[in-house]
Amino acid sequence: MTEKVQISLRLSPEHVLRLDLLARSLGVSRSALVEFIAENLPAEPAHFVVLPLVRLMERFREIDTEDVLDALLRYLKRELEERWGSRRPNEVWVTELVSCRLKPELARKYPDLLRASVYSPNAVLGTLAHWGITFIARALGYDVEVPVERRVIVNSEEVIVRGRADIVAPGKVVIDLKTGRGVREAPSSHHCLQVWLYRLILGTEKAKVLYVTLSRMCSVEVTEGDVRKALDELKVSADVDDFTSLVQALMRARERRVPLWHWECSYCPFSRVCPHSRAEG
Ligand code: SF4
Repeated sequence: MTEKVQISLRLSPEHVLRLDLLARSLGVSRSALVEFIAENLPAEPAHFVVLPLVRLMERFREIDTEDVLDALLRYLKRELEERWGSRRPNEVWVTELVSCRLKPELARKYPDLLRASVYSPNAVLGTLAHWGITFIARALGYDVEVPVERRVIVNSEEVIVRGRADIVAPGKVVIDLKTGRGVREAPSSHHCLQVWLYRLILGTEKAKVLYVTLSRMCSVEVTEGDVRKALDELKVSADVDDFTSLVQALMRARERRVPLWHWECSYCPFSRVCPHSRAEG
C-alpha cells in the first residue's frame, strides 16, 4: 500500500505518515483517502493539496479544546499574534501601503482592539471562504499564499515591503482574493494597487482580483489604466511599471492623507479611539 501511495501521489515516506494522520483525523482508512484523492484530483498537484491541509489540521490539534468554534477563534487569534510578532521595525505590509497610515500605530497602542477583530463573523466567514477557494486553486495547479518581499529605499531609508499573494501561476498571473459582504465597484482602487504591487514583485504578466462576496462573484483583470486612476484618486503620480516609484508615491499619499480613502474610517476597527476618525455615530 505504501508503495502505491508513493507512486500515485509522489509522496515521501514522511508524507505518507502525514497522510495516515489526515486519514485518522477524518475517520477514514488511508486506502479510502488515497482512492478519493486519486479519483477526484489530478495526480500532479495532489500533494500540494494534501500537505497544507495536513499542516492546518496539525495546528488545530495543538489547540486544547473540544469546542469547534473555540478552536477556530483561538487559531485565528494565534495567527494574528504571530503575524504581528514577526514584524521587523522597518517592515511595511503591502496591505498597509494601500490603507491609512495610523492603523499600525493604533494596533500597537490598542492590541485588544486588534484581537477583538478576530471575533467578527464577517471576518471569520471570509477566512473560511479563503481557505476553501485556495484549496480549489491548489487542486488546479496554482501556487497559493505565496510570501513576497522586496526592499526599497524611501527617504534615504531602507523599507522592507512584505506580503502574501493569494493565488499565483508563476510568470503568468497573480490573483488577489477578496471576500466580504459585497463590492460596489470592481476592481476597487485599493485592491488594484495591492494586486499590482504583487504583480511587480512577482513579475507576472497579469494581475486579477477575484471577488467572492455575499452579493457578487466575479474575476476582474487589473490594467495600468486602473492603477493610474487609483493614483489620481490619491492625488499622486508614479511610473506604474516601477515598484520603487509606486511604493514612494503611496508613501507620499499616506503622509498627506488621513484616512487614505474617504470610506476607510467606517470599516476601521480603531474608529472608536482614533482622534482622526470620520466614521459616523
Ligand atoms: S479611524 Fe480612520 S483615521 Fe483613524 S486609523 Fe482608522 S482609518 Fe485611519
